[in-house]
Amino acid sequence: CGIVGYIGHVPAAEFLLDGLRRLEYRGYDSSGIATLEDGELDIAKTAGRVEDLASLLKRRQHHGSIGIGHTRWATHGPANDENAHPHCDSDQILALVHNGVIENFRAIKDYLIEKGYEFKSATDTEVVAQLLAYELDKVSDQTLDSEDPLAPLILVVQRTLAKLRGTYGLAMVFRDWPHVIVAARLGSPLVIGVGEGENFIASDSSPLAGRTNKIVYLADNEIALVTSDTIRVIHRDQGDIAHDVQTFEIDA
Ligand code: GLU
Repeated sequence: CGIVGYIGHVPAAEFLLDGLRRLEYRGYDSSGIATLEDGELDIAKTAGRVEDLASLLKRRQHHGSIGIGHTRWATHGPANDENAHPHCDSDQILALVHNGVIENFRAIKDYLIEKGYEFKSATDTEVVAQLLAYELDKVSDQTLDSEDPLAPLILVVQRTLAKLRGTYGLAMVFRDWPHVIVAARLGSPLVIGVGEGENFIASDSSPLAGRTNKIVYLADNEIALVTSDTIRVIHRDQGDIAHDVQTFEIDA
């Protein structure tokens, strides 16, 4: 239902929690965040109110300056802690949040279960996390003739998205690429807020109020690679594409 992301120079949890509060008006049944620090993903998620997540976060350390957050409105699987986003692969090498519906999740899930993948939730979303892990594993055996350190990541994301049917707004973080958030959109809105030495991701502009008035709108079939000071946009089936930064006043 609602997505937020932060990459920059201060702990991500502050913006993530504030952003989720600003997305509450859309309705939801669960919420959660994942931050990444020193090669470890820290995940906190719970069914219930964003305030329940806030009290959970008071008791935990979330210092990472890269992270993603979500308010869920369940479509597949009941509203409980396990089904709340973010979702991970079994080895916690990545975490993601998702808006929308993966229509072919059953077929992908059956295929991965047969390959030995173990699922923790009843959501359609978890298949995206496990499929990314499967594609990452495959690419690790390949030699890519590219100097670009992000090349394997881009390939894995493109291959994964190409297998999905349905709709998605996605924000993903990867343990092995700790300086980039990957965002992708098909039929579910996503915007990138451009800051100074920090960038934001959100499913609508309301979490960006007071943070920045510079916005990049992601279009369908676009993938964004967002670091604290760069934004790169790639087409799902092609290469890099140009993007516009728009400036406007956001109502608080
Ligand atoms: N289909 C996903 C789920 O049920 C995402 C729902 C949403 O957009 O919040 O977990």
